[in-house]
Amino acid sequence: MLNPFKSVHNFIKKHSFVKVIALVLAVVLLCFGVSHITAWRIERSQRFQNLLEREQALEELQLLHEEAMQTLQDEIAELQASLQTATGTQEELLTQIAKLEEELETLRNRPPILPPAANSTTGGRVYLSFDDGPSANTPKILEILARYGVRATFFVINTPDFHYVRQIVDGGHVVALHSYSHNFSEIYANEEAFWADIERLNTKIYAYTGQRSNLLRFAGGSSNQVSIRYNRGIMTRLVAQVPERGKVFFDWNIDSNDANSRYGNPTPPGVIFESVRNQSARLTNAHIVMHDGRRQTTTVEALPAIIEHFLSRDFTFHVKTADTPPIHQRVAN
Ligand SMILES: [Zn+2]
Repeated sequence: MLNPFKSVHNFIKKHSFVKVIALVLAVVLLCFGVSHITAWRIERSQRFQNLLEREQALEELQLLHEEAMQTLQDEIAELQASLQTATGTQEELLTQIAKLEEELETLRNRPPILPPAANSTTGGRVYLSFDDGPSANTPKILEILARYGVRATFFVINTPDFHYVRQIVDGGHVVALHSYSHNFSEIYANEEAFWADIERLNTKIYAYTGQRSNLLRFAGGSSNQVSIRYNRGIMTRLVAQVPERGKVFFDWNIDSNDANSRYGNPTPPGVIFESVRNQSARLTNAHIVMHDGRRQTTTVEALPAIIEHFLSRDFTFHVKTADTPPIHQRVAN
């Protein structure tokens, strides 16, 4: 039987002590090295595992992030869409408010409809007439006339808005002669100049409407006292020439004062209404002069109350024709 101690003893005896020590050391170093390498390999595999796990977790996070981004983008798009709708609605509301405010302002400016003056006539005829247009006020006047279903006569001049004569005719109203230039120093210089101005206007009316007019209102009226500055007696001679020229002329018996600078510029709508109401109290044939020039903006505001006033007195509305009994003022030149 082999004794291990004896064998070791023999081995030591056989080899030198240093050699044994070296051998032992070598064995110890070998063991240490093997264990170290094993530990390193285990650690490395663990780190690799960890890395894999982290990568997987990152991928998951990335997916979650993308999903969240998509949801946010969808929400932003939705919000933008609703914001756009809200902006549209807001703009519509603002436009509506502006329109209502404008209507309110018009109503505020409208003169009150007062009862007819005491002993005022009922059941007469009223002739609305507008001089010195057309202008931007003309379509507004036409709209009011259409609303009440009444007609009027427009004594026109040459203006940049002349094309409205077509709309006047289309509305069933009458386009009549006033003056081409409305320049007193030119037209009242002599009779030839006056009739040349009128024929020039009639040609233009014909070009726009296909109709000529034989109805005339003198610039300033037949009783104007301005023409005397340019030619003494010209009104008397012109009035006498009217039938020779195949025309009839009209003045008025009610001045709305809408072009009278004494009352302001423009005349307040209440003054226009009061002028018409007071001057018409005893009349059964009311020939009113108003203006649809560029500056007479308040005539538009006063017009509904004027129309309602005559409707309340059972007046009927008429346009002028060659057969209308003319109203003539006293010629003063
Ligand atoms: Zn005029």
